[in-house]
Amino acid sequence: MLEASDEIKEKLKELAHEASRPFCYSDYVTVEADEKGQYRCPKCGSDDLMREVEGVGVEWGYDWVMEHLVETEGERVDIEELYRDLLDDIYEPIKFGELEYSPSQVLEAVDPVAFRIGAQDNADSAVEDSQMVCLNGSYFRISDLIE
Ligand SMILES: [Zn+2]
Repeated sequence: MLEASDEIKEKLKELAHEASRPFCYSDYVTVEADEKGQYRCPKCGSDDLMREVEGVGVEWGYDWVMEHLVETEGERVDIEELYRDLLDDIYEPIKFGELEYSPSQVLEAVDPVAFRIGAQDNADSAVEDSQMVCLNGSYFRISDLIE
């Protein structure tokens, strides 16, 4: 399942539309636009068409095309690494005399559960803010894809 903000879903759907072609499954043909710019199967006349991505497959709707685009063109994000960077960016290093530890190192060692929950929450808010999408539990940046 794809989790993304409405804004991102809308953009992905447009891209999925461009990346795929209408397809009549009964006749097993790709359907081109007619002179009125409408898509109807030249053999059976149906406008109830699937979407085809060449070399990938044929299915109903856009969801699978959107997922395919995220998987193949998105940049996979390590959400724990992302959270470490955030912690080390916003908090000062922790010092004991000569010893110095990064905030992420400390939190991860002292309270690994809180660290994992924090990483998850941080990733989920990035999804809400249209910074990333989540596909079947994996996180992706798709800024290169939607610009
Ligand atoms: Zn047909």
